[in-house]
Amino acid sequence: MKTIGLLGGMSWESTIGYYKAINEGIKNALGGLHSAKIAMYSVDFDPIEKLQHDGDWEGTAKILTEAAKSIQSAGADFLLICTNTMHKVAPQIEESINIPLIHIADATAEVLVKKGIKTVGLLGTSFTMEQDFYKGRLSENYGLTVLTPDAPDREIVHNIIYKELCLGKSLPASKAEYLRIIESLDNHGAEAVILGCTEIGMLVDQTDTEVELLDTTYIHAQKAVECAI
Ligand code: GLU
Repeated sequence: MKTIGLLGGMSWESTIGYYKAINEGIKNALGGLHSAKIAMYSVDFDPIEKLQHDGDWEGTAKILTEAAKSIQSAGADFLLICTNTMHKVAPQIEESINIPLIHIADATAEVLVKKGIKTVGLLGTSFTMEQDFYKGRLSENYGLTVLTPDAPDREIVHNIIYKELCLGKSLPASKAEYLRIIESLDNHGAEAVILGCTEIGMLVDQTDTEVELLDTTYIHAQKAVECAI
């Protein structure tokens, strides 16, 4: 079994989901007392969140490349960045290490392509919903049409992530807002909706809606399990 590298802590609430899903995946695949071999570096998210909102992505890249190098030195065979948003600096991180990076948008797009889905809704931080590092990668590399909520709803989705979910708060009123926005993406022609932020699964899941949901935390974790065995 290969050793999975996890660059986590963004937020730590969602890194718990990775740890659990990866270990469950290994247990299901190998049985018995098998569990995942993991080298994890969990960052302090507060300074990273401040740099993001100041637009200082190079500052975030510096912190994350150092963390990625430590994970490589700890013996990881490949790396996962446990957040969609911080894939904004995936190119800098990839350049700083020799082990492969398993990109969360690629893992998600592969599932969409397998399912034959062509038009997909995307929920995430405003960085993820609006910028090319994620949305562009899905459309340019996989031919997907990506629908995002309108500006006021993008703001609602973004604020709930940073002000509630990253702090471990899952509120009924916010869940209702997310379900309304998911419904609206469905009405605009989305065949499925990507939960493109690793905390959203704490708020909504497939039992809440008939619209097909793709949880990037779960998909990314499953990809790690496949790569490890
Ligand atoms: N975990 C979130 C994501 O998947 C947001 C936190 C962050 O900014 O990294 O995008």
